[in-house]
Amino acid sequence: MASLKDGDAPPLSSRVMDAEGWALVEHSGRVVAFNAQASVHFGIPAPTTVEHGRLPGCEWLRSDGTPLPSHEAPLARALAGEQVDTAEWTVLRPDGMRVRLQGTATPVKGGDGRVAAAVLRTRAVEALPAPLLDASRLLAEAGALLGTSVDAEAQLEPLLKLLVPTLGDGALLILMSPDADVSVAASLHVDAGRHALLRELLSRYPPDPTLPGGLSHVFVTGAVARLCVMSDEHVTLTARDAEHARMMREVGPHGCLSVPLAARGNVLGALILLRANVLHAFDAEEERVLAELAHRTALYLENARLLKEAREAVRQRDEFLGIASHELKTPLTPLSLKVQLLQKQVTVLAREGKPVPTERVSETLEVVQRQVRRLSRLVDNLLDVSRISAGRLRLEVEELDLASVAAEILYRFAPAAQQQGTELELHAPVPVVGRWDRLRLEQVVTNLLSNALKYGAGHPVVLSVDARGTVARLTVKDHGIGIAPEDLARIFERFERAVSDRHYGGLGLGLYITRQIVEAFGGTVLAQSEPGQGSTFTLELPRGDIPEEWLTAHAAPGPTSESEGG
Ligand code: ADP
Repeated sequence: MASLKDGDAPPLSSRVMDAEGWALVEHSGRVVAFNAQASVHFGIPAPTTVEHGRLPGCEWLRSDGTPLPSHEAPLARALAGEQVDTAEWTVLRPDGMRVRLQGTATPVKGGDGRVAAAVLRTRAVEALPAPLLDASRLLAEAGALLGTSVDAEAQLEPLLKLLVPTLGDGALLILMSPDADVSVAASLHVDAGRHALLRELLSRYPPDPTLPGGLSHVFVTGAVARLCVMSDEHVTLTARDAEHARMMREVGPHGCLSVPLAARGNVLGALILLRANVLHAFDAEEERVLAELAHRTALYLENARLLKEAREAVRQRDEFLGIASHELKTPLTPLSLKVQLLQKQVTVLAREGKPVPTERVSETLEVVQRQVRRLSRLVDNLLDVSRISAGRLRLEVEELDLASVAAEILYRFAPAAQQQGTELELHAPVPVVGRWDRLRLEQVVTNLLSNALKYGAGHPVVLSVDARGTVARLTVKDHGIGIAPEDLARIFERFERAVSDRHYGGLGLGLYITRQIVEAFGGTVLAQSEPGQGSTFTLELPRGDIPEEWLTAHAAPGPTSESEGG
């Protein structure tokens, strides 16, 4: 009689179990382990509990075909303390199939000397007929599974359990992100040893759709593929190094059927079924069911992704509403305080029959004007965002000199820069003429320059303009707080900010609007930065349809000193 201490692993090494079914059942009826081969033998998924040692839906039969009373079944006897030695059993499974199994049932003692559990081991005496594929049941079960949770990826492993061992010995679910990053979302093999090996193999050598010969073309073409994987030929063709080859050989050759996970015209990845018996080909019905299952899974994943996006959009909107109300309120406070104060003073002075001093009125009006300008800039930004979202950003293109536009905006910023002690510099040695919308171009330069002042920590800001043939270039360089590398791409998105709103006010819209305008011009905007060192924003704008002589006569004379090559 074996004995079991608390926390012991099931008393079998995983490699021995190749074709062996085994189950470990506690005296209480709780099933601690039930391997996939046991599922194949008894035709049931792993149960969580058994009653009186009876596997759900299964009957042990006597030689005359009558069922044994439940207390005489091997597992019940072992749980009662009896060692059931190797014997041949006939078991009637819930699917009506009779199978001949050879097995043992061994009681396991706990620390107190009493029977704590029993181990059942089985081997098939004759090859089990391939289970009948119940397609509608499989799809219904998959539907129920996929429908139970909005956490798409959590359901993928259980989904594979529906396929293994019924349809194959192993299965993989591989996902591909829109930027073609491939990841193994779930993997399963009926053989626990191969299961672990396959996982390790996939994590050390993840599938690479750019490598020829493997499953790559499924991702690329979205086609159904049947191949033999991990055979000698396949290993020679695809192994990336000796260790990869060794691991593939250890998993061993498998027939493989791969169907695309396609939804609404997008290929999201592939569902792959593996069969250890390479001579047992996948038939058309199996392919049809797998393709249907893959299609439903893809739709489900796509819906889950859309739901996640929608939730994220709502979260962003709520966060934005909070920031927007705060931002709109900020200028209103000094504005209304100043007006109230003036009103009080006017009342007092009027009562005393004195005139209101003009400097007091004009000081108040200046504050009012500044805050009204700030408010209207905020409102303009909000209107721009809704215009951009509705695709209504219209451009009125005319011939302009970018160098003059830059100089003009710089001039507008001069008082504010002086007030905060920031030096402004302009490098624009020659006119750079192109066809752009003046107001939108001014808006872009204004956004970049106002950010450089805002986040520039009072250090000098340099604005440069030059051209390379048909492309005009404008850069705004500051030496301020900088931007972390992981935030560089994000800050061009709507409402995205890389600073806390306690230190810097803002809606996170300036760069979004900038990029939208620049892209509407057919150009690009790029940020380069190092935290603490400052940032450089570079605009590249096609100069549009302008006379040839403007391109040559007014091009910058040779490479400028600020050129950063890019
Ligand atoms: P806002 O300035 O209103 O937050 P923007 O869209 O103009 O919105 O900028 C988005 C974010 O990018 C800012 O919140 C800030 O974190 C970062 N950022 C923009 N320009 C600079 C800069 N010159 N230096 C450092 N960070 C910047």
